[in-house]
Amino acid sequence: MDRREALRHFGFGGVGAGILAHRAMAPGGRPRRTRTGSDDRVVDVVLEGASVFRPGPEGARVEHDVSVRVAGNRIVEVGPGRLSGGDRIDLTGHLLLPGLISGHTHVAAGSPTRGIIESGRSYARPLTLVQEALTSEEIEAITTYNLTELLLSGCTSQVEMSMSLSQARSYARVARRLGARGWVGGMVPGIDRLFPIWFGSDDDLVASEDDTLVEIEANLAAAEALRREGDDLVLGMMTPHAADTQTSATLEAFARAATRLGTGIHTHLSQGQRETDAVRRRHGVTPARWLADAGLMDGPFFGAHFTAPDWETDPNILIEHGAVYSTCPSAGGAGGATQPYPEALAAGLEVNVGIDTHSNDMMENVKLAVLQGQARAVLLQQVGSPRPVQAPTVEDALLGCTIVPARALRRPDLGVIEPGALADLVAVELSGPLTGSGAPAPEPLNNLLYANGRFVSWVFVDGRPLVSDGRFELDLEAIAADGGRAVQRLWGLLEDEGWFD
Ligand SMILES: [Zn+2]
Repeated sequence: MDRREALRHFGFGGVGAGILAHRAMAPGGRPRRTRTGSDDRVVDVVLEGASVFRPGPEGARVEHDVSVRVAGNRIVEVGPGRLSGGDRIDLTGHLLLPGLISGHTHVAAGSPTRGIIESGRSYARPLTLVQEALTSEEIEAITTYNLTELLLSGCTSQVEMSMSLSQARSYARVARRLGARGWVGGMVPGIDRLFPIWFGSDDDLVASEDDTLVEIEANLAAAEALRREGDDLVLGMMTPHAADTQTSATLEAFARAATRLGTGIHTHLSQGQRETDAVRRRHGVTPARWLADAGLMDGPFFGAHFTAPDWETDPNILIEHGAVYSTCPSAGGAGGATQPYPEALAAGLEVNVGIDTHSNDMMENVKLAVLQGQARAVLLQQVGSPRPVQAPTVEDALLGCTIVPARALRRPDLGVIEPGALADLVAVELSGPLTGSGAPAPEPLNNLLYANGRFVSWVFVDGRPLVSDGRFELDLEAIAADGGRAVQRLWGLLEDEGWFD
């Protein structure tokens, strides 16, 4: 397939033509924007006519025909009907959401593995090879491609565990260029050291300790450098890979670093029975208990997967600490096993829907989390599960991507649509063909079950419109071409190794 064919194949038929395909019937035109230097920020705009999803302490309400006024980088007014103010964007037939927060991403790991692992191959070699064999320019092109996808689908904020410190630096650069909001760290151990430690013996783990301590210090220094740069949009965070690749000494170092940064910990948590068993054998407790006792849950805490916890004891540990479980329906690629979202909800956990890897369509993952969770709940009830289950709703999933992670991050200015909050906003068109009925949806959360990221029409981060009426701010075709070239070289290297055979 040549590049033009590939672009058409992936839906990029012209400059964003695929993305724009559903725009033809969207109401409203493009607003005038007030440009301030190179910053394309909307200075004063009213988003009117949408149904608005408004999370609050007691859940969420959906209010119809509501206007939201944005001035600078903040929401300044929310009210029924029409508000007076600057430029206007007609969002009739749209659902307006707070910007969605993924509590677990590895941004540069998405497109290199997508479409080649779903039938059973491991992601390990491709992701190792990204780090080993690609140039920093190629990794940056892949990061740009993947972060663009996240933004296009309404994921305005990423709690990001890059596969290495160099990839974390790349993420920070790209996020600033594209205008995304993120909390980023390099996974420790990094991808180049991970697998021999993860699948090695206890002696291998002990032998890895000194190098892991060096990696922790380097990540801390990089996070402090990000903070010194004074950008509130991209902050550093400490990101241990998982409990079974750490020793007591490295855990202590993480706790000290997290205290110093104040942004918390992001890790994989009880992501398999092997991890839980290994930590029990070494330390006599579950991963959740071990991390909490070491102080890793004293600040914000995001733990992904939670596939094999002790359901008797671990949920309460997370709840006590205000920790978040990120359930990732596309972990391991689309399809495959489901994650314990219904059990976690029944246990009273705060649950985020995370991207993990492979799919960067936030809307699709919200939908998959709900659909897979409902199927899992029904099946568990049918087979007489000993554990209580609660089937997730769309509202659960949206709360989990808005106010739940915002609260965990100690950020009351995110995850809500209230005056004074930061203007991270996402509009999804839900009234036209394929998602709706040709008229504004009376219960638009249900219509999200028929949507995906292609129906996202507007994305604002910090008041800046990154997606306007379906159009990405930067050159989508160039981003796709650059990302595609880098991934094709990677696939060529894999082919030379016989990886596909
Ligand atoms: Zn992960």
